[in-house]
Amino acid sequence: MSQRPLRKRVMVTGGAGFLGSHLCDRLIAAGNDVLCVDNYFTGRKDNISHLLLNPRFEAMRHDITFPLYVEVDEIYNLACPASPVHYQYDPVQTTKTSVIGAINVLGLAKRTGAKVFQASTSEVYGDPEVHPQTEDYRGNVNPLGIRACYDEGKRSAETLFFDYFRQHKVKIKVARIFNTYGPRMHPNDGRVVSNFIVQALRGENITLYGDGMQTRAFCFVDDLVEGFIRLMATDGDVTGPVNLGNPYEITVHELATRVIRLTESSSEIVYRPLPQDDPMQRCPDISLAKKLLEWEPKVELDAGLGATIAYFRRLLDDQSRA
Ligand code: NAD
Ligand code: UDP
Ligand code: UDP
Repeated sequence: MSQRPLRKRVMVTGGAGFLGSHLCDRLIAAGNDVLCVDNYFTGRKDNISHLLLNPRFEAMRHDITFPLYVEVDEIYNLACPASPVHYQYDPVQTTKTSVIGAINVLGLAKRTGAKVFQASTSEVYGDPEVHPQTEDYRGNVNPLGIRACYDEGKRSAETLFFDYFRQHKVKIKVARIFNTYGPRMHPNDGRVVSNFIVQALRGENITLYGDGMQTRAFCFVDDLVEGFIRLMATDGDVTGPVNLGNPYEITVHELATRVIRLTESSSEIVYRPLPQDDPMQRCPDISLAKKLLEWEPKVELDAGLGATIAYFRRLLDDQSRA
């Protein structure tokens, strides 16, 4: 008779956030025990309320800049505000979350022998001069600008991950995540997809920063989470960094026109100043992820936007009824 593998105890920091809550869903569905650790700075209990009655799920309010002693087999470190509006709100706390948070999860992984996954970011490439971005590109980050608390915090976290790997043999998996969207994004987090959809559904002006010719490539959340699971499952010698994102690149102006079309909105585009250090182009080269993980995104932009629009429609309806 074949034996069922022992179920894993998996910790997700930032588990009540946008990406973290989808990851918790996926880990629970696979039969794991999940410990969600979050201080609810940008995450919401609503994102995980459907999991609370599951005996394999546990939610803990905790700030990862403080030590945490628990026994786990795997750690996904996602805790960190991700939208520019949120991470610039308290930039010192953003750097602390990335750097001290990384030290704490790495210390925990060192003590327990757990594998540890780091949610790094395409922001480590800054305003890139190499396009599309490959993992060996070292980036063009302004260390003094308003995005630096996030960009440099995440860069330091990567350094810590690789030093704990070299010095203490901690099993690390580093993913560099590119712009991701989907249901459970925070309606006020200021990111482009949520802003445009909420504006279109409310019939408000769509705020395009700069001339709208800057590019991004948007990945649907389900595709991204599949990439997380595959990276965590790789052999011990695979550390990353691995780019995870959808290489379908469009201008922000094109995104605005698509959102208007898909929502059948009468909103109009208005132009606002481009924020400081806003990257002019961004698109992942995902050759490494394809080779190592046999992974590539499957959800096309219009389909993913459709699902996200449906989510925000329900959310705004619920808010107007409340
Ligand atoms: P999010 O803001 O929805 O989630 C972040 C979560 O971390 C929230 O639940 C928040 O409350 C929690 N958190 C913040 N500081 C904390 C602290 N000190 N202690 C405990 N919890 C804390 O953002 P997201 O989009 O889900 O991003 C998750 C991770 O993925 C982040 O690390 C982010 O940098 C990374 N990432 C996301 C994207 C994207 O497009 N969504 C792109 C690149 C990287
Ligand atoms: N740490 C933690 N949980 C653990 C083990 C460590 O939160 O289970 C934290 C603790 O704050 C520690 C940090 O991780 O300071 C780094 O741990 P490490 O063992 O690398 O260093 P040290 O204990 O010497 O500071
Ligand atoms: N943006 C925009 N209007 C908005 C919000 C964002 O034009 O209401 C632009 C922003 O200037 C950037 C791109 O959309 O060029 C993506 O912004 P976001 O904050 O989602 O993520 P970033 O990739 O900059 O971290």
